[in-house]
Amino acid sequence: MAVPTYSVSCISKTLIAKDVYDIRFAKPESFTFKPGQFILFDVPHADNPADIQARAYSIASTPGEQELLFAIKLTPGGRMSRWVEERCQAESALLMKGPFGNFVLDANTGRDFLFICTSTGNAPFRSMLLSALQSGDTRRMDLIYGVRAREDLFWKEEFEALAEKYPNFFVHIALSGAPENWAGHRGRVQTLVPQIAPDISGKSIYVCGNPEMTKEVKQLCLNEWGVMKADLHVEGFI
Ligand SMILES: Cc1cc2nc3c(=O)[nH]c(=O)nc-3n(C[C@H](O)[C@H](O)[C@H](O)COP(=O)(O)OP(=O)(O)OC[C@H]3O[C@@H](n4cnc5c(N)ncnc54)[C@H](O)[C@@H]3O)c2cc1C
Repeated sequence: MAVPTYSVSCISKTLIAKDVYDIRFAKPESFTFKPGQFILFDVPHADNPADIQARAYSIASTPGEQELLFAIKLTPGGRMSRWVEERCQAESALLMKGPFGNFVLDANTGRDFLFICTSTGNAPFRSMLLSALQSGDTRRMDLIYGVRAREDLFWKEEFEALAEKYPNFFVHIALSGAPENWAGHRGRVQTLVPQIAPDISGKSIYVCGNPEMTKEVKQLCLNEWGVMKADLHVEGFI
């Protein structure tokens, strides 16, 4: 079946961390998706709007929320990055195709969940976690969320509020370049997993973020931490 295309209109654009924008679009009425899926935007070149290319973005909102939420990290000179910085404002329109992807919660597992992400890799996990917790899932869910510095963090308070509200959800925030006065975890997410989740081989694991990290965590899971392939779900933001 052909994947439908929608025209979506921007509601807001907010800088929420260094080089990261929270961008919200009005959700088309007929658009449905599963938490964890992504869409493709048709992105016009900032200097030549007739030149269009697709870019993938994970949906951070839940299917129940009225807006489609995205966390978009700028890469200098990039096509979407330029559109976001130079063109995007309230009521800007983009064509969007989707949803796509199998990076969704495994309906057949009874295992606890471990989510591992860097930066905007937390986007699909916001959708998955909120949906699962709000639906009454009481399994243990741990989120290991890493960035380089404090200025790169976003949605920290939202995840911490969720952890306060739901006793089965735990958030572990790590800075790889932590300053002396940082009280949270230090180091890259892959080095923290054995300490935070020593029982990782019994969990259902989701990994999302930059491809170097996802590749490394995948290798560690399969070659060193005893994770079965069927329990490992990886989305690299290539
Ligand atoms: C399934 C999936 C989900 C994703 N979800 C997200 C998400 O939720 N949030 C997110 O931020 N990203 C996400 N990504 C990554 C996203 O799709 C883009 O790759 C990213 O945002 C960069 O896009 P861009 O158009 O800004 O850069 P691109 O145009 O793709 O450029 C990439 C790099 O090439 C360089 N470059 C481009 N043009 C030139 C040029 N003419 N000369 C020299 N250098 C150049 C740019 O400087 C940049 O560093 C996801 C990727 C996948 C595959």
